[in-house]
Amino acid sequence: PLVLGFETSCDETGIGLVRGHTLLSDALATSMAEHERFGGVVPEIASRAHLEAMVPTVHRALADAGAALSDVDAVAVTSGPGLTGALLVGVAAAKAYALALGVPLYGVNHLAAHVAVDELEHGRLAEPSIAMLVSGGHSSILLVPDLSQDVVELGRTIDDAAGEAFDKVARVLDLPFPGGPPIDRAAQEGTASIAFPRGLTGPRDPAYDFSFSGLKTAVARWVEAQQRDGVHVSVPDVAASFQEAVVDVLTAKAVRACRDHGVDHLVIGGGVAANSRLRAVAQERCDAAGIVLRVPSRRLCTDNGAMVAALGSRLVMAGVAPSQPDLGADSSLPIDVVSR
Ligand code: ATP
Ligand code: MG
Ligand code: FE
Repeated sequence: PLVLGFETSCDETGIGLVRGHTLLSDALATSMAEHERFGGVVPEIASRAHLEAMVPTVHRALADAGAALSDVDAVAVTSGPGLTGALLVGVAAAKAYALALGVPLYGVNHLAAHVAVDELEHGRLAEPSIAMLVSGGHSSILLVPDLSQDVVELGRTIDDAAGEAFDKVARVLDLPFPGGPPIDRAAQEGTASIAFPRGLTGPRDPAYDFSFSGLKTAVARWVEAQQRDGVHVSVPDVAASFQEAVVDVLTAKAVRACRDHGVDHLVIGGGVAANSRLRAVAQERCDAAGIVLRVPSRRLCTDNGAMVAALGSRLVMAGVAPSQPDLGADSSLPIDVVSR
């Protein structure tokens, strides 16, 4: 089936076209430049930008794929989680296209889509797999018996998401927002010489939960103390040390989840999966543990429309029932609701 996917949960207007597990096009517009000076995404600005970008981005996706609207067999849209106003723009647009084309509509979970996108590059996911979702708003370890309908959350962050920690630490270091990419770059010039805490890694701590707010505070305190003493702060060393702490915990817990559940396939998705150190350490530890690791290419880790089309296409092929015409947006859609 040819599936047209709509993603508007945050600042990216993403429109993707997928046939089966094949990526045909992935058109992206972002309002990030308008949010940057606020140090975070401003919901009203994001919603308005989605409205303006919607139709041109759909046309670009079609043109890039060499497809016509009349070729589309199904429409998929992120119905949550995310910013309500932003989600509503995508849901309204997707409904309009589905209705006009007379094709089924699938309201899908943004977080499951971050995992499903991997199938565009590496083929069908092994099931069960362990999935680690690490993004701007979420950090979870999932057991995935069937990505079309059965996702079990084994653990999650009890405070900040991994991406949120990158964004907050970047602010401490005077690096731009979003903080993941500049920290990743700075860290390549530095050494992970500072011992920052690894949250929830004690013997009695929950095995698959994360905590990153203590780490963020520790970094801020360390930088303040250096500055107070008039000691030069090496941004690359702080970035590398912080990043190492995050990556160490994420990869250790993901590998442990595989081992505990007898699963030998791990997939990592979400914006933080673009992190070069996370990708390298995950590969090392998976190799050592005999686990097959799958990570989407960088561009597909952060928000895009192809991931939504990828999950929609999978649902069509699995025979999952489409959404009702009154589909709405759910800003806090639970991670185990794949479609609705
Ligand atoms: P969610 O998916 O939870 O709704 P989101 O859609 O806003 O949140 P994504 O687009 O998946 O999040 O990811 C954005 C996050 O990824 C930001 O926090 C950003 O700093 C982080 N990120 C992007 N690139 C990197 C990188 N190279 N290293 C670390 N973090 C990164
Ligand atoms: Mg974004
Ligand atoms: Fe996302």
